Amino acid sequence: MSKLGTLFIVATPIGNLDDISKRAVAVLQSVHTIAAEDTRHSNKLLQSVQVKTRLVSHHDFSSDQATRKLIDRLLAGDSIALISDAGTPLISDPGYKLVILARTHGIPVIPIPGASAVTAALSVAGLPTDKFVFEGFLPGKSAARQHRLDELVLEPRTLVFYESPHRIVQSLKDMQLAFGDDREIFIARELTKKFESHFLGNLVESVRWLEQDNNQQRGEFVVIIAGCAEQELESRRQRQALELVELLRCDVSMKKAVAIACQITGARKNQVYEAALRNATPD
Ligand code: SAM
Repeated sequence: MSKLGTLFIVATPIGNLDDISKRAVAVLQSVHTIAAEDTRHSNKLLQSVQVKTRLVSHHDFSSDQATRKLIDRLLAGDSIALISDAGTPLISDPGYKLVILARTHGIPVIPIPGASAVTAALSVAGLPTDKFVFEGFLPGKSAARQHRLDELVLEPRTLVFYESPHRIVQSLKDMQLAFGDDREIFIARELTKKFESHFLGNLVESVRWLEQDNNQQRGEFVVIIAGCAEQELESRRQRQALELVELLRCDVSMKKAVAIACQITGARKNQVYEAALRNATPD
């Protein structure tokens, strides 16, 4: 059986062309074909590093037949590099279909790491990075976006979002509604580019920062939100528990209502019981 080719997943710059690695250039030069999300866009980068390798278009909407063609090349022994318009392929970018298919055929899939907006932003945010959740793009429709944000309100890990310029203001307003005025936020705009700017503060200040200067609404954004602090988590659980106690009280004793509400919400029994007694109107 002939030797299999390798599928290289190659990171490219997120703005500054100098951020391409020597290894990325060497791999792009050595492979048989480069599969790119947008060939016209990638041509500019490839010309700047004098790579003349054959370029074909490939994205998640490519036909199964087109993906199959790439797999057949790899099975025949040719190596292929996958690149996206910017940053690391498969990170809110195409490539998943090709990678999973390559893996099911036993084809080696090798990363050539480099820039990604998520890690670049986290590295300068000044918010906890030991644990984080990458949410990518929020839903475009307002109701779905608010619903997703509501689901994330109690998440204790740092949250990372990608956002586009035409939705940035509305998304931040939705975040303010969901997380409250005081939640900490970091905004990384136009990372590695000429008009790069950063904001660190709370949500209410961030909306003001964007609205005060239309220029700050232009370009590409990473939005990082601090996770829910333990204190906020506990007071939200307590509020939920008290709402449940209120509903349950008609049918069961106060003690039982508190026990059930705390089991459901995870709130602390003693505190909920004391607060429930304080709230209870005398019969
Ligand atoms: N694959 C890319 C990566 O590794 O970061 C992400 C591609 S995704 C289609 C594009 C989004 O990434 C943008 O809308 C923006 O949210 C974020 N992004 C990409 N480049 C950026 C930059 N230079 N500054 C800030 N955000 C950026």
